[in-house]
Amino acid sequence: MPHAEFSLALCSLAFAGGAAFAQAPPQPDFAAVQIKVHQVSGDVYYLEGQGGNVGVLVGDDGVLMIDDQFAPLYEKLVAAIRTISNKPIRMLVNTHIHGDHTGGNENFGKMGIDIVAHDNVRVRLARGVNGGAPSPAVALPVVTFGDTMSLHLNGETLTVGKLPPAHTDGDSYIRFANADVIHAGDVFRTTGYPGVDANNGGTVKGTIEALQALVDLAGPNTKILPGHGVVSTREGVAAFRANTIEAQRRMTELIKQGMTVEQVVAANPTADLATKFATSGPPPDDAATLRFLTGFYNALKSEL
Ligand SMILES: [Zn+2]
Repeated sequence: MPHAEFSLALCSLAFAGGAAFAQAPPQPDFAAVQIKVHQVSGDVYYLEGQGGNVGVLVGDDGVLMIDDQFAPLYEKLVAAIRTISNKPIRMLVNTHIHGDHTGGNENFGKMGIDIVAHDNVRVRLARGVNGGAPSPAVALPVVTFGDTMSLHLNGETLTVGKLPPAHTDGDSYIRFANADVIHAGDVFRTTGYPGVDANNGGTVKGTIEALQALVDLAGPNTKILPGHGVVSTREGVAAFRANTIEAQRRMTELIKQGMTVEQVVAANPTADLATKFATSGPPPDDAATLRFLTGFYNALKSEL
């Protein structure tokens, strides 16, 4: 895959636009990536590598995966899954379209694994995301849904449900009823700012609604797996939502005062929120802050 496609595929960069973002990000060194296996609860695990967190449910019926990072990591992901299960991989759910969550679809599709996602994920992947090439048929979801669907595997009941248009217009949560775990996709992350990909149907208003939906779905002991970062809680999502609302309030005020995106970037009105959003890992760097301020500004302006 050529470098340009990686740039487009990187979720955190997918909503960058304009001259300020002309500088290409460093290409991930996939050969150096190591996949770490973390247990979330019971038979639910997640794989940490390069890209979105991969949820894994294991059991006698077979393996279910959620998201698949980048194509070059396919063999490493399979090897990591083999350390926790020797059963066939049967299903793969995509939380949303971005290439750091769906890059492995083609390889896993060729294994005969059924890919499951929201209707809009299939439509957008088939069309090509952010100017990228259309996904081949084998990489597309074969089971799609509009509102919610249930999967029954390994004694577990999973609900795959559509969230309001938040990060994109095809964001799903995956709730494991027995394990009491929710995979939130990129609507929630512990590593940085909320990401609103307005080019792919994301909205700030929907982000706040989607975060509330996650809070409502969760119980006091629910483990919430973000699209990026570490396992969190209902309180963690509620705090992320409160900070998103505060960022929305501050930036809306500046937009109404007539400030341009350049002026808002220079003012950085959410500087004190950066480390409140990023509760794990390093604080957002300047490039991440620039992407956030620009993306959030443009989304909010179109939502006024
Ligand atoms: Zn994403």
